[in-house]
Amino acid sequence: MRETGKVAAIGADLGGTNIRLALVDSEGRLSEPYRYPTPPRGEAAAILETLAQGIRVLQHQARAHGIRLVGCGLGVAGLLDGRAGLVYTAPNVPGFQNLSLKKLLEEKVEVTVTLENDANAAAFAEYWLGAGRGVSSLVCLTLGTGIGSGIILEGKLLRGASGAAGEAGHMVVEADGERCGCGARGCLEAYSSATAILRDARAALARGEVTSLREPFRARPEALTAKDVTDAARAGDPVARGILGRAARYLGVGLASLVHLLSPDLITLAGGLTAAGDLLLPPALAELTGRAFPVLLRRTRVELSALAETAGMLGAAGLVLADAGHLWVHAR
Ligand SMILES: [Zn+2]
Repeated sequence: MRETGKVAAIGADLGGTNIRLALVDSEGRLSEPYRYPTPPRGEAAAILETLAQGIRVLQHQARAHGIRLVGCGLGVAGLLDGRAGLVYTAPNVPGFQNLSLKKLLEEKVEVTVTLENDANAAAFAEYWLGAGRGVSSLVCLTLGTGIGSGIILEGKLLRGASGAAGEAGHMVVEADGERCGCGARGCLEAYSSATAILRDARAALARGEVTSLREPFRARPEALTAKDVTDAARAGDPVARGILGRAARYLGVGLASLVHLLSPDLITLAGGLTAAGDLLLPPALAELTGRAFPVLLRRTRVELSALAETAGMLGAAGLVLADAGHLWVHAR
C-alpha cells in the first residue's frame, strides 16, 4: 500500500478485549493492523481516546504514503443505528449506552466515521472477499461469547426500521427455554454460543457428572473455557459431546428458520466457536435437513467461514469504500 494516488479507508473493530485498526484498500488489502487493549470497565471516554489515537496514527501513515483516505468504518458489537451514528447498547462496553459515538469520535479526528454492527461488517467482508463473492443473499453468523449476525438480502445489507435488524442470535428457538444474556428466554444465543456451552459444562460439573473435565476444574470451575469443553468432546468425553451436540442441534433449529425466512444462497458460520468444526457443523446440518423445506434447502449452502479475525476491519472499511464509489460491490 505504497502507491501515491491510492484510495483507502480505515477499518476499525471495537471488541471487548481489543481495539484493532488498519488501512484497507479497494482490493481488500490490509495494512499491518494496530492493536490496543480495550480500556477496562468499558469507560466511554477512554475508549474514544484510544480509537482516536489509532485513527490519527493511520491518518498519518496514509498521508506519508500519499494514500487518500475516504473515511473510517468502525465495527461495534452491539445494537446500533449506523445512519444516526448512535450506539443503543453494547454488551462488551458498559459505557456505550445511547451514545452518539460517531459525533463524539469525529470531534477528535479529521475523518468521517461510519458505525457498523460488527457482524454486519463481517457479513459484508464475506460478500466482498469471502465465500459470498458473487451471491445475492447471505447470512453470516458469528458464534462466540454471543451470537452476532449480518444479513445481506438481494444485494443489500438488511438494516430494518431501527437500523439494528439482523439479530439472529436472539431468534427464539425454545419458548420457555434457557435465559439469554439479553434477558429474554430461549434465544439461539442461549443455546449455541460459547457462553451457553460453558454454562452447561459448569452445570454438569456441579451435578457431579462423570467427565474428564471434572478433575482439572473441580477446584476452579471458573477457569473452564469453551475450548476445554470442545477439546474434551473431541477426545470422546460423553458429557462434553452431549453439551456440544445440544448446542449444534439448536444451531440447526435456528438455521432452519433462517432458510425458511430468507432463502439465502449462503450461510457462513464464523467466530471462535467454529474451531469446534466437525463437532458442530454435521449435527447442525442434520437438524437443519430434518426441518427445512427441501426445495428451499437445496439452494442454500452452509459453510464455515474462511475469513480470519480481520473480517470485521475489512468489512467496516469495505462498506465505507463502497459508499464512496470505490468498490464494484455494494450492499447499502
Ligand atoms: Zn437473547
